[in-house]
Amino acid sequence: DLILFWHRRDLRISDNTGLAAARERSAKLVGVFCLDPDILQRDDIAPARVTYMIGCLQALQKQYSQAGSQLLILHNNPVIGIPVLAEALKAKAVFWNWDVEPYSQTRDMAVIDSLKAKGIEFLHQNWDQLLHSPAEIFSGSKTPYTVYTPFWKNWITKPKATPRETLPTFAGLTEQEQEIAQQAGAIKLPSAQDLGFSWDGELIISPGESAAQKRLEIFTKSAINVYQEQRNFPAVDGTSQLSAALKFGVISIRKVWQATIEALDNSRSEEVTASIRTWQQELAWREFYQHAMYHFPTLSEGAYRDSFKNFPWRNNEAHFQAWCEGKTGYPIVDAAMRQLNESCWMHNRCRMIVASFLTKDLIINPQWGEKYFMQKLIDGDLSANNGGWQWSASSGMDPKPLRIFNPASQSQKFDAEGEYIRQWVSELRSVDSQYLVSGNILPLERRAVGYPAPIVDHKKQQALFKEIYQQQKVGV
Ligand code: FAD
Repeated sequence: DLILFWHRRDLRISDNTGLAAARERSAKLVGVFCLDPDILQRDDIAPARVTYMIGCLQALQKQYSQAGSQLLILHNNPVIGIPVLAEALKAKAVFWNWDVEPYSQTRDMAVIDSLKAKGIEFLHQNWDQLLHSPAEIFSGSKTPYTVYTPFWKNWITKPKATPRETLPTFAGLTEQEQEIAQQAGAIKLPSAQDLGFSWDGELIISPGESAAQKRLEIFTKSAINVYQEQRNFPAVDGTSQLSAALKFGVISIRKVWQATIEALDNSRSEEVTASIRTWQQELAWREFYQHAMYHFPTLSEGAYRDSFKNFPWRNNEAHFQAWCEGKTGYPIVDAAMRQLNESCWMHNRCRMIVASFLTKDLIINPQWGEKYFMQKLIDGDLSANNGGWQWSASSGMDPKPLRIFNPASQSQKFDAEGEYIRQWVSELRSVDSQYLVSGNILPLERRAVGYPAPIVDHKKQQALFKEIYQQQKVGV
């Protein structure tokens, strides 16, 4: 019996929960990926992310062919494409892994209805991308957590699954069946350009599982041991840069977790153990936000907290434009935005700095920033991005409402020599570190190098934000 396995954000064969279950049911197993026009036509899609994804699909097609089968590509609405393909190939069943995003869940329910109508079996209850499903982690009162620390304390005590290898050989389609698949919509994998996305920069991580695996090995042998100390310095290569691979499931989260356990076993000092734990906590943040999106899907539509639902954001378009272009006159903010624009990735410390600046200094709706990030980031992910923006805007879960980052003290702490600023803001390369980092660049020097004056005054804006916030709180 033929089984179709529908890949979505699990672009690999090894240790793929749903795929392993499908392979155990039948050796005749074919993969399918659907390029969904409804997603690709959204106005928050990053060319770099599509380029990375297409590269990962290419690598996955190779894995399928080595296993003896095929990965078919559709360019169609999956609600139509998947059932039509399954019916044409007389597939016994379609399997896939479940996803937390509201769009995916609505779409999957429609696919299920259509498969049911055609009498085709389906199995979708696998949670491949998480160590724990949203149904596993609840507070003592059996409700989802809305604060991270108790979530983490519970989450870390739960036993985690170890990687389970998918049986490595499949039987694929015959030539005649391949023709049938083509008639049912299967196409050659297009390039990102064919889909209208051009990106010719250097991707921060090469596509495919082996590149992600190598990155994981290098990171868990070295940088993980000093992560706690190094992770906050944007000029240092101190984080894993695995976010895009994790977003698309190019690497298995169980393998990532196992690597942290091995690193803990090899640890010979308390500092190293604490560093590895800190990195594990980042993986738990990823799960916290995915669980939150699953339990509270309206997060994707705006503020979680009532006091921010009708917040009078100033939304100055010229300020937003300056922020997007990295021309705010605040060197650390501008360096970060230029890193985003040029590399399509940004260091976590800087994501927090620019998000605080947009929402608390420019008093601009966090949804504007959230969308701009999605338009650029190679790792752009609804749950993590929304979680990060709501945290920074103080509009979400786990808030400390008046947390406002001071760009100058952030630079002084985390880029004391201005190395990161110089790397991304080329016109400031010759400016003395002291002025660069404090942001107090002399007007004459600014003009000489063509760098803008600050578009707002941090102190004034901080006071203004606090005032608006207090009024707003009283009004609620
Ligand atoms: P590492 O430090 O090596 O962390 C390991 C992994 O843990 C990451 O790859 C990521 O999967 C996960 N992780 C780490 N920190 C977080 C976090 N705060 N929230 C959720 N997961 C986390 N991350 C995304 O993957 N996609 C996004 O679209 C995204 N948008 C963000 C927007 C804002 C405003 C903020 C403040 C953070 C955002 N993050 C996002 C979280 C974080 O900045 C990135 O995951 C991290 O910088 C990626 O680099 P890394 O892989 O080297 O991380």
